[in-house]
Amino acid sequence: MALIVQKYGGTSVGTVERIEAVAEKVINYRNGGNEVVVVVSAMSGETNRLLDLAKAISSRPAPRELDVLLATGEQATIALLSMALEKRGCAARSYTGGQVHIRTDSTHNKARIQDIDGTAIRRDLLAGRVVVVAGFQGVDEQGNITTLGRGGSDTTAVALAAALKADECQIFTDVDGVYTTDPRVVPEARRLERITFEEMLEMASLGSKVLQIRSVEFAGKYNVPLRVLSSFEEGPGTLITYEEEGMEQALISGIAFNRDEAKLTVLGVPDQPGIAHKLLGPIADANIEVDMIVQNVSPDQTATDFTFTVHRNDYDRALEILGQVARELGAREVSGDNKIVKISIVGVGMRSHAGIAATMFETLAREGINIRMISTSEIKISVVVDEKYLELGVRALHEAFDLARA
Ligand code: ADP
Ligand code: ASP
Ligand code: MG
Repeated sequence: MALIVQKYGGTSVGTVERIEAVAEKVINYRNGGNEVVVVVSAMSGETNRLLDLAKAISSRPAPRELDVLLATGEQATIALLSMALEKRGCAARSYTGGQVHIRTDSTHNKARIQDIDGTAIRRDLLAGRVVVVAGFQGVDEQGNITTLGRGGSDTTAVALAAALKADECQIFTDVDGVYTTDPRVVPEARRLERITFEEMLEMASLGSKVLQIRSVEFAGKYNVPLRVLSSFEEGPGTLITYEEEGMEQALISGIAFNRDEAKLTVLGVPDQPGIAHKLLGPIADANIEVDMIVQNVSPDQTATDFTFTVHRNDYDRALEILGQVARELGAREVSGDNKIVKISIVGVGMRSHAGIAATMFETLAREGINIRMISTSEIKISVVVDEKYLELGVRALHEAFDLARA
């Protein structure tokens, strides 16, 4: 008998009809001789609705209370799905994160899972029940409700699969696998049969929201077989795997993009030791994550320019903090732009091939797209461009690297 952890995302449980359909699907797997643990998201739109309610009360709601509120979304779905299963004669039991001791640290709104106690779940499985667990939520040491960040139900599912040593973790969503890029932007995008953990990790961290990045990290670390599938149609989906010896590698596996970027520049800062720390220290102290960083070579070694990117939500605060620091340092000017996006090409094949960056830059130049920043790592190249060029850039690159063809 195999143990499978299945996760159904917001769209997959978006209506009562969809929840009934998920119940049928779960029962099918169970009748196929498997033990099934199901993780569910809030019904689609519900987390945003709750966030809007909080924002209507306060522009900066207390993070602890926000978690108490947001966790209700998933709590509703576990109860509804369990009812749908019971109605069909399938014994089921729902649990909140706290009830199955999904213990996290205390970083409200983006907590990290530290430990899961699988005792209650194993007992239920032995008794022949389907176990339905609320995604996205946990409790800290003091029993406070925490949430794992947007898309966090993916991570709940993988962490549960790791804790229970499940045979497979299946992420059911509204697309039938991981594609060469977001099929909403490039209709010709192609489903990948498999993708390596390393590439999936890059894709997720560079903006492909099909899997939360932490879930991929977990799966890689604990060796959890992970598959992305459609909850609407049958099919093999995409398997996330380790890189195999001799595996034929495409040069580029996929294109990721991130619309949530903003960029800040300080012009004419004194070119002295410690300047990066002086500029970025206060930004870090304000809990603002910095992504790309570029410091210019200073022509006369007296002053330099310094540019970095942050999440668009943090733009106003970062600009405020930077303005103050720049004044203290005697910098010439601070400027910023929150109408930028990041486009990245990802592929392990890049390691052993030259000329990929050249093809990328040539393609963007041909479309008249100005590159504002560049950053590279072993298996990815990212560029920052104006927001208005996002779709054009992604489509042109998809075509240039011939990604629609297997
Ligand atoms: P769920 O609610 O099931 O968690 P998400 O909206 O979080 O679903 O993730 C699925 C969506 O991810 C798809 O509808 C698709 O638009 C988007 N997406 C972005 N990049 C990719 C990609 N490379 N492959 C597949 N889907 C992608
Ligand atoms: N409901 C949460 C969200 O919308 C978690 C999830 O769906 O994974 O982000
Ligand atoms: Mg998701």
